[in-house]
Amino acid sequence: MQIRALLQADAAHLATVLALPITEARFEVQLLLAHVMQVSRAWLIAYDDSELSAENMASYQLLFQRRLLAEPIAYIFGEKEFYGMCFTVTPDVLIPRPDTELLVESALARIPTDSPARILDLGTGSGAIAISIAQSRPLSHVIAVDKSAAALTVALANAVKLGVINVTFIASDWFLAIPTSEQFDVIVSNPPYIAEHDAHLQQLQHEPISALTAGITGLDDLQKIIKHAPQYLAQNGYLLLEHGYNQAAIVREYLAQAGYADIHSEQDLSNVARVSWGRKV
Ligand code: GLN
Repeated sequence: MQIRALLQADAAHLATVLALPITEARFEVQLLLAHVMQVSRAWLIAYDDSELSAENMASYQLLFQRRLLAEPIAYIFGEKEFYGMCFTVTPDVLIPRPDTELLVESALARIPTDSPARILDLGTGSGAIAISIAQSRPLSHVIAVDKSAAALTVALANAVKLGVINVTFIASDWFLAIPTSEQFDVIVSNPPYIAEHDAHLQQLQHEPISALTAGITGLDDLQKIIKHAPQYLAQNGYLLLEHGYNQAAIVREYLAQAGYADIHSEQDLSNVARVSWGRKV
């Protein structure tokens, strides 16, 4: 079949089934085709009168069926780009979002480049945040924890693949396995923060629910982390948190109640206050 005809038909089909804008559906079909044919999107556009071989057609059809069932492209390809690196992702981990790069940048702004610092990442998932920070601050050491052994396996494989050696992975339910004698200069977390009955969860059904929801309001884990972090922070150390689009004010209030100073929220790529932090005094 000719690429142009296939692209037209399948983009329309995908757009209808997943209720996607046609431009997005078209882009996704191009990604699937480019992956199967091992060519660039530019090649597909330039040579859209080429025919797909029977073998490539069969492989493409399998991937397209998976996408029609709403499986995210990142799981279909088994990888996702984050902070300039390619992370392996499986259904055991949340797919890293571009917005979370704001958390990495906000943390990096508080980590020295010329002296060692101790960093803790809570609920590391694929390891995207921990590995990005560790890679950008080679003198620092990052401890990354997750309660999911399956997630830690993915995170460790990512650190090995990306050649980042200043990060250690520990199985821990938030702070539980971390001795209180440990003092960190920066603690970061992108915890689950979606409310349990949020309609938005329907679109995220392929991702681990434990990485997404936290109680009726979605605030349970954010609250827990804010409360316990001071025991593990060095004086003047920072806690930085990603949270939901409508949670910045309440997160700042929790930080204030827990006695943090320099409380601030920062906007993400869509101008939503998405990351908040405070300094331990
Ligand atoms: N930002 C993600 C989403 O809404 C949720 C990630 C999280 O709960 N930490 O798709």
